[in-house]
Amino acid sequence: MDCLFCKIINGDIPSEKVYEDDLVYAFKDINPEAPVHFLIVPKEHIKSAYELDEAHKELIGHIFLVAKKVLKDMGIENGFRIVNNAREDGGQTVDHLHFHVLAGRSLNWPPG
Ligand code: 5GP
Ligand code: ZN
Repeated sequence: MDCLFCKIINGDIPSEKVYEDDLVYAFKDINPEAPVHFLIVPKEHIKSAYELDEAHKELIGHIFLVAKKVLKDMGIENGFRIVNNAREDGGQTVDHLHFHVLAGRSLNWPPG
């Protein structure tokens, strides 16, 4: 399948891994928007949050726990943001479900 993040998961495209297990792969964003900016992606190719169903409930909970574990291991305790951009108006540019994890500075709100 011609999917950038599937290629990153498979190792066909190099990435800076921060975490991996049977369900997910996490790696540094190539264009970081904060001192800490990594992406958590399911190993299963799911196009976006709009394609989620009941079978994915545990996976999504797992992703949030992975985010917390990686942040804790990095010593982040002052706060962070987990973001999912979905489909065109959501600003999704890679059609493989992913969660941005941002930290290391005070983050602005609301988003643009
Ligand atoms: P989206 O805009 O779809 O929510 O987020 C896609 C993210 O993937 C962007 O923040 C972008 O910087 C990141 N990205 C795109 N191509 C690559 C790549 O080849 N390697 C890595 N590590 N990140 C990428
Ligand atoms: Zn994919």
